[in-house]
Amino acid sequence: MNILNIKDWGLGIHPSKEKPFLISGPCSAETEEQVVQTCTQIAHLGVDVLRAGIWKPRTRPGSFEGIGIKALPWLIEAGKQTGKPVCCEVATPQHAEEAIQHGVDILWIGARTTVNPFAVQAIADSLKGIDIPVMIKNPVNPDLELWIGAIERIAQAGITKIAAIHRGFSVYNTPKYRNQPQWEIPIELRRRISNLEVICDPSHIAGERAFLYEIAQHALDLDFDGLMLESHITPDTAWSDAKQQVTPQDLETLLNQLITRQLDTDNLDYLNKINQFRALIDNLDTQTLHLLSERMEIVRQIGLYKKESNIAILQIDRWLDVREGALKKATSYHLSEDFVEDIINTIHKESIRQQTTIMRKDS
Ligand code: PEP
Ligand code: MN
Repeated sequence: MNILNIKDWGLGIHPSKEKPFLISGPCSAETEEQVVQTCTQIAHLGVDVLRAGIWKPRTRPGSFEGIGIKALPWLIEAGKQTGKPVCCEVATPQHAEEAIQHGVDILWIGARTTVNPFAVQAIADSLKGIDIPVMIKNPVNPDLELWIGAIERIAQAGITKIAAIHRGFSVYNTPKYRNQPQWEIPIELRRRISNLEVICDPSHIAGERAFLYEIAQHALDLDFDGLMLESHITPDTAWSDAKQQVTPQDLETLLNQLITRQLDTDNLDYLNKINQFRALIDNLDTQTLHLLSERMEIVRQIGLYKKESNIAILQIDRWLDVREGALKKATSYHLSEDFVEDIINTIHKESIRQQTTIMRKDS
């Protein structure tokens, strides 16, 4: 895919590993003072782009659904006063047209819009021939293909200034965070589209400001390309997402606490040590594969033997014993039970698959 990095969007933004790309501003534009004051108070904190929701897709009717077009000049004014580019969410071609007409610099497609290919296509069609950056949030459901599909629709409209935003995935019961990060999904997105920059939105993952720091730090530890953090002059009285927004002061504290990480170094001591560790890991991975191969060989022999003796592949009691046995050993090997459970389930699934092939083969 033909994708330009954020530094090449022509907006004078030059993120680095030491200073990742940062978007901040209120969840929603509520009043002109609230937008302008929030933005002017955060502008000096290393914020690259200001945000404010103009149209708000809300889960239930009756909630505040955004000021709409009347709030666009407020965001533009905040941009003028601070000299920063501004961005807002668009959910329809009309939103996109109005945002662009008013001078919004970057658009983003929200999680509730990314789920709908018709809606994304309609926005993509309306952007044909327009040179504006578009950021695409993940769909609310953990469906990587849908996320990639939305990115492709925007790219096929000729847009090259594209980034993705990871804002977590909704589940029925929210154990801790409002949206589950499922970090493996944005990681897989980066593997699939390696030239795509991915920004993390800790605010919508967290749902509560107490969790923002740990999520933002984890995103930096995983080498995300930037952060989107909601801020508000008086978050407690915000008209949307009150619990997850932070004051400009709290944003500053949070940013100061974050540790940025390098991808590489030319420190020879580090390089020697890491190479030694990696040789050990490679060796252990080879041994693990060797053991798995030996295990599967026995599994196939058992499969043949069961077939000859006309015995079912699965004996549930034996499987429960194997599983239980592995789980019991987890702690003494310093492995988490979840991890051991995943591994033994995967091994067992493959064993059944191997024996099924043997059973079905004409003898
Ligand atoms: C937002 O950024 O305010 C927003 C509505 O986010 P999401 O689409 O991630 O829910
Ligand atoms: Mn929000």
